[in-house]
Amino acid sequence: MDELKASETIAVTNGIAGDNALRAVTPPLYLSSTFAFEGFERPGRFDYSRTANPTRTLLADTLAKLEGGAGAVVVASGLAAINLALSCVESDQLIIAPHDCYAGTMRLLDARSEREDFVVEYVDQTDDKAVRRALRRGPALVLVETPSNPLMRIVDIANISRLAHEVDAKVAVDNTFLSPALQQPLGLGADYVIHSTTKYLNGHSDVIGGAVVTKEASDAEAFAHWANVTGVIGAPFDAYMTLRGLRTLFTRVHQQERTAGAIALFLQNQPQVAAVYYPGLLAHPGYDIAARQQKGFGAMLSFDLIGGREAVRHFVESLKIFTLAESLGGTESLIAHPKTMTHSYLSPDTMTDVGITDGLLRLSVGLEDQNDLIKDLNQALAALT
Ligand code: PLP
Repeated sequence: MDELKASETIAVTNGIAGDNALRAVTPPLYLSSTFAFEGFERPGRFDYSRTANPTRTLLADTLAKLEGGAGAVVVASGLAAINLALSCVESDQLIIAPHDCYAGTMRLLDARSEREDFVVEYVDQTDDKAVRRALRRGPALVLVETPSNPLMRIVDIANISRLAHEVDAKVAVDNTFLSPALQQPLGLGADYVIHSTTKYLNGHSDVIGGAVVTKEASDAEAFAHWANVTGVIGAPFDAYMTLRGLRTLFTRVHQQERTAGAIALFLQNQPQVAAVYYPGLLAHPGYDIAARQQKGFGAMLSFDLIGGREAVRHFVESLKIFTLAESLGGTESLIAHPKTMTHSYLSPDTMTDVGITDGLLRLSVGLEDQNDLIKDLNQALAALT
């Protein structure tokens, strides 16, 4: 039946009118931590909510369908999802990770490799030669983040998956920046998709959550087992909220993307802006790959403001609609300064290597009126002169 449904329809309808007890149209929220056995040695479909919970299971099922996966595990945060995906790697095994990934991901990989849980090598995954060289070391897992946070670098998922599979490595793609509405890594060859559901999937900046979606059912079972063993599972209330957000995912993301494209073009023509990083711009080095592997260019972009930290301070404090805050993917527009906020964990050398400058600002474009947002940026740029 679901094969007949478009993803837009699945996002809206999965679980709707499925309540057999009272025929509630909206799937009920099951907060109960435990479920009565039908009899001695006869558990029902659910027994204990750490192991499985109906509301969380519905979210996992919806995410698996949207990503074209065989199963999914919903956990407490995006970082918990990344950590869960790392459970497929044993000590002494190698992980190839992006040199410019989200700093929280890098902090997790650094912390766990320092404890000798595994070995990690950071690679510029847009550099085919560097990727091939790293793969010759025989990694167990290749972690990809595309578009990358915050510089929006694009990695060719089909190519890196093919190369990784030649050396028997698994490929996990962090799809947080685009969501399945705009990119489906499993269809391009990846083995796992990771989400911070905190961002576009929930979409309203009121839940912290994460998920791993797998191509193979056996991998989902292994991750579900480990999530139960370690107890990192997501709360039912958060799953309920995320299901609520998911129903408008496609509409939100498409509208936000249109506005982001207009903002990128606007910023490109401003004398106070040295560079704009948005994969939908023809000049972006990843444009061709993004056009091929994505269904849209997304609603995240970054730009370099001329004038360094003082100009940044003045600019962000002059904005009236964009809020200075971390995170992304909500209905409201946010601005972040990666160097002092989301990516402050990185060493000065890594920042320079990656391209995170004093003037770099990251925008998460929301659902406000496009002209209002451009006017806001325009007046804050004018305040610099
Ligand atoms: N992955 C990416 C690309 C992110 O941007 C973030 C957070 O900003 C995470 C993972 C971590 O997600 P969470 O904050 O839900 O743990």
